[in-house]
Amino acid sequence: MATDPIIYALAHVIPGKEQGRPGPERAYGELLFVLYMALTGAVGSHRRAARILGHPDHWIATRTAASQRGFALPAQPPRRWNCEDARRRVLRVQGRQAPDTGLTEILRARAAALWCERAHKHGALAGGTRSNVDPARGNTVYGDGKVTSSMFGPKARRARRAAGLQVDGSTHVQGGDNGTSTHGLKFMHVGVRPNDRPNSRLILDMRYVPHSGYGGEAGIAVDALLDLAAREPGATTLCYDGALRGTHLQALADAGYLVFSPPHGSTAKPHALETVTSCACGDTHRLMTVDGYVAERVITDTGTTTDVRCTLLKLSANRRQNSYAWYLEVELSCGNLRRFRVNKPSPDGPLRIERLRQAAKDESDDSAVYNRIYGRREDAESVNNILERTLHGGRSISPSAIGQFLVMLGHALARNAYTELLWQRDHAESPPPIAA
Ligand SMILES: [Zn+2]
Repeated sequence: MATDPIIYALAHVIPGKEQGRPGPERAYGELLFVLYMALTGAVGSHRRAARILGHPDHWIATRTAASQRGFALPAQPPRRWNCEDARRRVLRVQGRQAPDTGLTEILRARAAALWCERAHKHGALAGGTRSNVDPARGNTVYGDGKVTSSMFGPKARRARRAAGLQVDGSTHVQGGDNGTSTHGLKFMHVGVRPNDRPNSRLILDMRYVPHSGYGGEAGIAVDALLDLAAREPGATTLCYDGALRGTHLQALADAGYLVFSPPHGSTAKPHALETVTSCACGDTHRLMTVDGYVAERVITDTGTTTDVRCTLLKLSANRRQNSYAWYLEVELSCGNLRRFRVNKPSPDGPLRIERLRQAAKDESDDSAVYNRIYGRREDAESVNNILERTLHGGRSISPSAIGQFLVMLGHALARNAYTELLWQRDHAESPPPIAA
C-alpha cells in the first residue's frame, strides 16, 4: 500500500493544519491517516491495522516508500493512539461524536476518479467499443448493495444511545433473500474487471446509502452510475440485481447503459404491451411482456391462451446529444417486424422499461446475450463476500456511519492497491510499450 500512488494522492487532498492555529504540529501528517484507513479496510480491524503499521520492519518499508514520494515520516513507528489521533483529527471528532465534515465525500470523489484512471491503465472502460451483441468484459460495470451488520446487539445499542454515544444504523431487509432483516449500515459499490484474469477486479466507487432521503440503494446506485457514465464513455454495459425499478432503469438506459437486470415479482408476470391491429398480414397481434421480453398471446388448438416469446431480431440505440433511445425489433407470429422503444418516456403512466428490458433471460438459448453477460454480476457478490470475511467478526467495526464508510473506502483502496501490484508484476516482464 505504501507504494500505491493513489494513497499519496489522497493524502494530498486532506487539508493540513492551518498556520497559526493552536495545537501541536502533526508529526505523522495526513499520510498516516490514509495508510491507516486503507490498512484497516484490508485487515478489518483498527487494532490490527495499527499493530501492523507500528511494527518496526513495516515502518521502515513504509517510511522508505514514503520518502521516495516526497513524504517525510518520523523515524519512530506510530503507536495505536497516533493512528487513532490522525483519524480523529481528520474527521474532526468532537468528544465522542463523529460529525460529517464533507471530507469523506472529497476523499471518495478523488479516489473514484483515480480508480477510473487505473481501470483505463489495466485495459477496462475503453471508449469506442460499444456493442449490444457482445459487450466487452472491460466495458461491463456491475454494482451491488452491502449491509454491514451493527457491531452491537439491540440491548447494547440502547445502552450506548442512552449514554450519549453515537450508534448509527437502521434495519435493512435484504432483497432477494427470504426477507431476513439486518440492523446495520448500508453501502453500495460499483466495479469492473478488465479481463478474466484472477484478481483483476477494480472497485470504481463506494458510497454510503443513508437510511432515508436519497432513494435507498437504487437511488444511490443511479447517482454513482450516472456520474460514471458522464466521465467514462466506455462504461456502456451494466449488470445489477433486481433492486432497480423502472425509474432507475429508465435513467440508466437514457444515459446509454445496456442494463442486464432481472424483472421480478409482479413486473415479471404477463402484462399487455400492445395490440397490433395494423399488421400487413391482416391479423391482430396481442403482445405481452413476460419476464422482461416481448411475447405474443396466441390461442392454442384446445382454446387456451399461451404467450409465445417473439424472436428478437435486433437491439439498437440511437444517440441524440447525450441521451440514448433504445429499440427492440421482434418478429411477430406472421413473420412481420415490430419495433419498440424500450425506454419510452412516460411522464405520467408507468414506464415501459419496468416490464420490458433491453435484454432478458432466455431459457431456450444459451447464446442469448443476457445469458452470457448477466453472470458478470457475480463479481459484485465476490466483493461482498470478501468484505464479509475481512471485517472483524463479519460486522461493522465502527459505530458511526462516517467511521464505517472510511473502513469501506479503505477496503476499496486496499483491494485496488493489491490489483495494481499484481498487474505490475504481470506486466513487468513484457517489454515497455514503444513511445508514440
Ligand atoms: Zn402480422
